Amino acid sequence: MSSHLDQTFAPLLAERRAAHLYRTRKLLQSPQTPQVVVDGKNYLAFCSNDYLGLANHPDVILALQNAANKFGVGSGASHLVAGHSSEHHALEEEVAAFTGRERALLFSTGYMANMGAITALVAQGDAVFEDRLNHASLLDAGLLSGARFQRFLHNDLENLQTRLDKTDATRKLIVVDGVFSMDGDCAPLPELAAVAHKNNAWLMVDDAHGFGCLGKTGAGTCEHFGLTQGDVPILMGTLGKAAGSFGAFIAGSETLIESLIQFARPYIYTTAMPPAVAAATRASLRLMQTEHWRREKLKQLIAHFRAGAQALNLQLMHSFSPIQPIVIGDEAKALHISQQLAERGILIIAIRPPTVAAGSSRLRITFSAEHSIAQVDQLLMALADIMQGLAHD
Ligand SMILES: *Cc1c(COP(=O)(O)O)cnc(C)c1O
Repeated sequence: MSSHLDQTFAPLLAERRAAHLYRTRKLLQSPQTPQVVVDGKNYLAFCSNDYLGLANHPDVILALQNAANKFGVGSGASHLVAGHSSEHHALEEEVAAFTGRERALLFSTGYMANMGAITALVAQGDAVFEDRLNHASLLDAGLLSGARFQRFLHNDLENLQTRLDKTDATRKLIVVDGVFSMDGDCAPLPELAAVAHKNNAWLMVDDAHGFGCLGKTGAGTCEHFGLTQGDVPILMGTLGKAAGSFGAFIAGSETLIESLIQFARPYIYTTAMPPAVAAATRASLRLMQTEHWRREKLKQLIAHFRAGAQALNLQLMHSFSPIQPIVIGDEAKALHISQQLAERGILIIAIRPPTVAAGSSRLRITFSAEHSIAQVDQLLMALADIMQGLAHD
């Protein structure tokens, strides 16, 4: 007997499947490293966000184990009740120092950090301006805030200014990704900081993909552009990507952080992350700050890949980040190439709508410092082989 719920949703699922937009999960049976075991098979993977190769680092694992021995597993409560441990606190102080901010506040996930910050800072009567390619969590937060929500054209300062000219809101929040998650390009942060300053608006940067990867010391996109807390007052970063751990933070002024502790509901009403996870993140932050070779290695891998892909006439994006998508266009074709790669032992996910715009489906290729040049060559050879086959079809 199928219920009314099932009868309602079965056709919607069928529709998704017919449009080549159906999503399935692969079963990962190994750590997140370049060589993974998925659904019982070995693959060379280019699809994790573990850019620095720290998710499986022995120092990070050991820190987690030692802290679990000392603090147990669950934090047992929210930060404001009794769950704010000395490991969380130390991590916050280290993130603040690393990013050059007065303070930082830990959140359980990046999604929650964005939701918490945006809904705490703006509400009905205010205005929020977001790049149209912003991460879903930022867009969702903007919508949920109740502020007048507007999306401006990707990296288009004029379009943003036109929209700012038309608002009479006193609280104006501009929100962008530092590095765009599906394109790999950077936001023009110095120019955005100037626009924000001129219009008396607040600038928030989600640096999920810049933190750890960009900047001289790995502090992220703001460091890359030489911007301080004065230029970018609200900085968000995630700890589950380059940091190889889990969680997220907002960094900024003392007043910003105290305001979030009082008003950010996704901060207040949730269980604190396990203290051992915070301890593991502290170990990974130390590696991020001392092992500069990881960023140098990434640069080499990216340059090698881009040169090889250009020689194959593949459509690259304007990206110097570890996110190097190849735009395919058609949803079914992107899926087909992803399957062809899998047959050759290479795991790369086809990113399709609604994550990206219709007709811009792509292979989202990402690199990790743990990849080798030989593995990049293996990828290029497989792509060459598949593209040649498609040309002859
Ligand atoms: C991954 C990501 C998030 C969400 O972070 P989680 O910790 O995975 O919830 C937010 N913003 C951007 C740009 C991201 O890529």
